[in-house]
Amino acid sequence: MINQIKSTLLILFVFMTLSSFNSKDVIIDSNLSFDEAIKTSPAPADIINELTLVNVEYYSTDSKLHRGQLVVNKSVASDVKEIFELIKSIKFPVNKCIPMVKYKWSDSASMQDNNSSSFCYRTIAGTNRISKHAMGKAVDINPFFNPVIYEDGKISPKGANYNPKKPGTFSSDNPIVKKFIELGWRWGGNFQSFKDYHHFDKE
Ligand SMILES: [Zn+2]
Repeated sequence: MINQIKSTLLILFVFMTLSSFNSKDVIIDSNLSFDEAIKTSPAPADIINELTLVNVEYYSTDSKLHRGQLVVNKSVASDVKEIFELIKSIKFPVNKCIPMVKYKWSDSASMQDNNSSSFCYRTIAGTNRISKHAMGKAVDINPFFNPVIYEDGKISPKGANYNPKKPGTFSSDNPIVKKFIELGWRWGGNFQSFKDYHHFDKE
């Protein structure tokens, strides 16, 4: 039994070493097919048909190059690609990008894990209104570093705090924020009532 475990671990180790060489040292955070990435979503077919899967590369909080994925609306795919080119070139740290299916479509689980994502068929937290995420026209980046701060001072996700000096955190002079705005997106850090520092969306 012990030997079996040892040999399994050895095979796994060799496999992981070889695959990391093959992928030129890019760490794969997500490698789903489109069908896998939208599986179990309750979204209607007309919305699913508007979506596409985008592969993105970024330097994560470990300073290593990672590859992840975002499910976005086809209308914003080229913007998202352009923004992630900038994210990669200036090495703005993005913790991880894993489609929401892996979090069972739970926004709070994804935020708690500091995961960046887009499509999630859901309403706006605390309301009955459909979110821009439901159409893949909103992107959340590093939610644990860039939390929501409500007017009463309550912070979401739990345990997060907003420190604009921390790498991976947005403020109005950040080049990624500027790029989103230049491309016609809204930034949640500019919302009048509450602040949603990780959130960007487009009409
Ligand atoms: Zn959002």
